[in-house]
Amino acid sequence: MSGWKECLRLLRLIPVGVIGSGSLLALSGGGQSGGQTAALCDEGSNADRRAALEVLKRYQESLKEDSVVNESSADSSSSVALELQKIEDSLSNAKAAVEKYYRYQARHILDKYYEDMTRKGLSAPAPERPAAKANTTEGAPADARSVNPKKEQPRYLPADETFGNFSEASSPVCVPYVIIGGGTTAWSAVQAIHEKDKGASVLIISDESYPPYNRTPLSKERWSAEDDDLNFVDFMGRKRSLLYSYSRQVGEHRRSSILLNSRVKKLDLENSSIETEDGQVVQYQSLLIATGGKAHPVESVHQDLGSDALQHRVMSFRTIDDFKALDKLVRDPNTKSVCIVGGGFLGAELACSLKRIAKLNDVQVTLMFPEPGPLFKLIPRYLSEFLTYKLAVAGVKVMPSSIVTGARESPEKRDSVELDVVSFTKKTLETDAVVVAVGIQPQDKLAEDAGLEVDQINGGVVVNAELQAANGVFAAGDVASFWDAALGRRRVEHWDHALVSGRIAGDNMAGGKSMYGVQSMYWCDLSSIGVHFEAVGLQSSKLDTVGVWNLKEPSRFENRPGSFSRNKYECGIVWYMKGKRIVGALLWNMPREALQEARQIIGKRSWRTLSSG
Ligand SMILES: Cc1cc2nc3c(=O)[nH]c(=O)nc-3n(C[C@H](O)[C@H](O)[C@H](O)COP(=O)(O)OP(=O)(O)OC[C@H]3O[C@@H](n4cnc5c(N)ncnc54)[C@H](O)[C@@H]3O)c2cc1C
Repeated sequence: MSGWKECLRLLRLIPVGVIGSGSLLALSGGGQSGGQTAALCDEGSNADRRAALEVLKRYQESLKEDSVVNESSADSSSSVALELQKIEDSLSNAKAAVEKYYRYQARHILDKYYEDMTRKGLSAPAPERPAAKANTTEGAPADARSVNPKKEQPRYLPADETFGNFSEASSPVCVPYVIIGGGTTAWSAVQAIHEKDKGASVLIISDESYPPYNRTPLSKERWSAEDDDLNFVDFMGRKRSLLYSYSRQVGEHRRSSILLNSRVKKLDLENSSIETEDGQVVQYQSLLIATGGKAHPVESVHQDLGSDALQHRVMSFRTIDDFKALDKLVRDPNTKSVCIVGGGFLGAELACSLKRIAKLNDVQVTLMFPEPGPLFKLIPRYLSEFLTYKLAVAGVKVMPSSIVTGARESPEKRDSVELDVVSFTKKTLETDAVVVAVGIQPQDKLAEDAGLEVDQINGGVVVNAELQAANGVFAAGDVASFWDAALGRRRVEHWDHALVSGRIAGDNMAGGKSMYGVQSMYWCDLSSIGVHFEAVGLQSSKLDTVGVWNLKEPSRFENRPGSFSRNKYECGIVWYMKGKRIVGALLWNMPREALQEARQIIGKRSWRTLSSG
């Protein structure tokens, strides 16, 4: 396989570069320059302004209606009260919409300021100030956290004392470090807290029934494991557990615990406390919001499913329990078909994995999505076409440009689902199981309800460079909207980001002042069809791309005039461009060392300087 250097050599010497289509200007709509973030900001602001104007218009109309009501039925006080209530509602809606609009503007201006500073080569931006909140020290450095002097002095129980019988413990329980969510971010943060504050008491509260585990093998390696437990074999051939183990520091002190099957329903910033759904109140000194995301539902698939049995046949895929449910279904001899809705990473990975094991039972695997090809929103069209071809060769039934508009019990087969599909024509598709894999929603409602700022464009809790959302409150992982010095404000859903941001947040919770400045990577493993790629920075098929490929020699058949060699993308790099700036890289079947180099390049070099030296 040709390596990174070989690809660069090819780029300079041989004209094999492929220029992708798509333009950033199209995104901004008004022919403005300024990048995707700015363009999206503009879009968001305008939409909000329109919403605000709409509400104001309705308010004016309701004023007119009100005068009519008063003239015609002066004695009808109840209807007047009703109308007054309407006006009040309209007014508060208008106020909220206008406030939201100004929040957009403020965030936009702040982010532009950071972008300018970065472009001018000034040092890393100073930590941002979170929006003004009651009882939060705006933008205060991490070491300025203090417990509200007015309230009762918290009692710090070793967290492990609360483990197992937490619901019986006297309320409120006080723990110095509390983490909401029990995923990779939480696990990584616990390690960092213990490294900095030896013997610290940390309480993780998770609504899942497993302690923190690695989700990434669930759509890939776990499907190859023969046994029934929580193991998988990694790419080095080592047998590993999905469940994370803890470093010696955490184990030795035994002062950290995890409360499982417990969901936090309220965050009270004023009293530095959280409340679980079963009414337990826990006070914290330092809090991490690591709530990740939850699977996006597809309303049209979920709404008309009557029986429980049928509900079980339509699932999202994010947890160990989801894996177990799907695994059981696919191995059931009565299951003859599975339909995956969604053509992103998860959908494509699952299709490959299922097809591999489904061969045993002769199960038909369908991958259905509205875009023209798999991963179409992220990779150039030619690669998406290439993937369509490879998936089809592997036996996956690929249905591009298809939207599910309804679902019900099949009239033909008991316990099967009939999907209404709008594709080039309207049709129905009968299947024994449906996996909905259409992305996630960040779980930021808890934070928003508490008054923390939520990113109106990308979703997620807005944090500063130290991953701080407010005084003593941090957010990291999939749920955090963070400032990326090279690429602007972002929220990403990557394992590597969860690991690194969790570590930095944990360190800062324990008094550190680390800034988040890592270009996190992610990977997609479709090795059963010969594709594995890693990526850093921004990937969007709306950006211009430059592909550098080590082309495989086409076979005699493929070389015939007019034929298209579909096997050619053996290994290469796709660079994503914003103007002349390289903002992202996708490393297709490339060796690991290329990743580090790509990380250095993102946001720093133009295409011209790269190709000339
Ligand atoms: C099947 C699958 C495959 C993936 N493969 C890859 C890959 O190949 N490469 C890659 O880079 N990334 C991959 N990812 C994404 C990666 O796993 C995530 O980015 C990472 O798990 C994010 O970690 P997190 O801790 O921030 O959030 P999560 O893992 O979502 O954890 C959040 C936890 O918080 C809990 N929670 C939420 N709200 C509350 C509440 N109010 N109270 C209590 N608990 C709460 C949730 O139940 C969950 O347990 C994959 C994800 C999935 C699902």
